[in-house]
Amino acid sequence: MTTFLPFSKPTIDEATIASVAETLRSGWITSGPKVAEFEKQLSCYFGGRPVRTFNSGTCTMEIALRIAGIGEGDEVITTPISWVATASVILEVGATPVFADIDPVTRNIDLDKVIAAITPKTRAIIPIYLAGRPLDMDKLYAIAAQYKLRVIEDAAQAIGSTWQGKPIGSFGDFVSFSFQANKNITTSEGGCLVLNNSDEVSLAEKYRLQGVSRSGWDGIDVDVLGGKYNMTDIAAAIGLGQFAQLEKITAHRRQLAQHYFATLGADFEAKTGAQLPPQDFINTNWHLFQVVLPDAITRPEFMEKMKAHNIGIGFHYAPIHLFTLYRKLGFKEGMFPVAEHVGRQIVSLPMFYAMTNDDVERACAAMIDVLS
Ligand SMILES: *Cc1c(COP(=O)(O)O)cnc(C)c1O
Repeated sequence: MTTFLPFSKPTIDEATIASVAETLRSGWITSGPKVAEFEKQLSCYFGGRPVRTFNSGTCTMEIALRIAGIGEGDEVITTPISWVATASVILEVGATPVFADIDPVTRNIDLDKVIAAITPKTRAIIPIYLAGRPLDMDKLYAIAAQYKLRVIEDAAQAIGSTWQGKPIGSFGDFVSFSFQANKNITTSEGGCLVLNNSDEVSLAEKYRLQGVSRSGWDGIDVDVLGGKYNMTDIAAAIGLGQFAQLEKITAHRRQLAQHYFATLGADFEAKTGAQLPPQDFINTNWHLFQVVLPDAITRPEFMEKMKAHNIGIGFHYAPIHLFTLYRKLGFKEGMFPVAEHVGRQIVSLPMFYAMTNDDVERACAAMIDVLS
């Protein structure tokens, strides 16, 4: 009997565990020197742009919207194929989510459909990079410039991904990353936001901690309504250990993805009717390896049969506009047909740093068996 192969699993090395233990013994376990160091290293990686850390990759986007002054009466365009957080933050600030359908090949938001969805009320776009695959970033920012829109990049899955040799996050407008447990690098829970200037940094710090600003030894004021979103030094210690391995992790995931394609063979799609992701081993960090199943098999059936082969399968994502909360806002079936089809049939195969080529071969053999 083979062991169960999960679809994702974090790898925390011994040096990181030792650093967490050292932090726990240090007498300072909330935001402190480790957070400052983590932000410094992230900023360096993002080409010197200012970066602040938070306790999730959800509040980062909400805070970016607040900094941009987006709220009631404003429309924000996003994709229906994402974690629900991407759309929730729009509702959270009182703005109106507007969805644009996805591209069937990249499974990312279709930028031509974004253009079609723009109205006089549109203030921002929140694109996501599903599985870590960037959009056409030149086209995205050309649209933003032409229509004077802010961009809040939901790069939750895209740490380590690049565009024309530059890391995602090192250019653009607001860029939000998540360090949740399943992401390519983790702080267990957490996130960071790349900002544009010191005014935005000052606002980000206030929204992160109760709207508080300090001056001198005892000067304190509150001039905006903030929340409690700071990262702890315990989380930052994990993040520093993980971040040191980003290059190694990204390279290994790209190699695993290449091995998936090599093992499945050039005729896999023709033989099974399944759709593989685009083969990009330069820009994509391969956060996920996703397959769109043929209509002949349902996703629950596929998941159950893969489970019988001891292979864990994830799915990312159910279309957001069909959740009850969003149906109550007027969204319904048929509005975004590509997203609805992909959302019904997409699965995530095992993909994580500790995986081996043998694991890839096991997952491929099981999938070929199930789809044949
Ligand atoms: C993980 C993820 C988020 C949310 O990040 P959290 O850190 O869990 O808040 C948002 N969007 C996408 C696309 C994600 O993958």
